[in-house]
Amino acid sequence: MTTTDTNERGNAEATMGWKIRSAVEGFVTTLDGQLRERPISLTADLGTHTEAEPLEGIAAALLAVGHARGLLYSYVRTARSDGLTWRQVGKALALEKQAKHEERPLAELAFEYIAGAGDAWRPSTFGWRCGSCLQMVTDRGPYNGHPRDDEYGHSASCQRLRRARRS
Ligand SMILES: [Zn+2]
Repeated sequence: MTTTDTNERGNAEATMGWKIRSAVEGFVTTLDGQLRERPISLTADLGTHTEAEPLEGIAAALLAVGHARGLLYSYVRTARSDGLTWRQVGKALALEKQAKHEERPLAELAFEYIAGAGDAWRPSTFGWRCGSCLQMVTDRGPYNGHPRDDEYGHSASCQRLRRARRS
């Protein structure tokens, strides 16, 4: 990544941050909540900025987190629907370092990040529609090593499942 790319990425991240802040404050004011000027820092003279009253800000920011999480699930659903693997999803979730540190398969960490860890009595699942056979699939995670044993719901003639069987 060049310096220009890094700068552009930094700028894009900052813009996203400001848009989220603006959406949160917009939500608060729509519900007749209060915004006020507060110092950016209590220990250094960095000027002031507008903030929601803290408790109203917490409730609105929590809503934004919920929306972002919903968007994350939606993209993961699409990725799995397209035939991308949990390992690929794990890379996009930036879990490679953690996988190395915990000495665990990246694919399993990715699944657990999205679906929760579950346990023997109540295993976690994640649902998506197969882009090949168009059936709803209950994904039990990448633990058995083959889609036939991990993904329930593909049609008997699903081409994607057949391809996976051959490989
Ligand atoms: Zn299928």
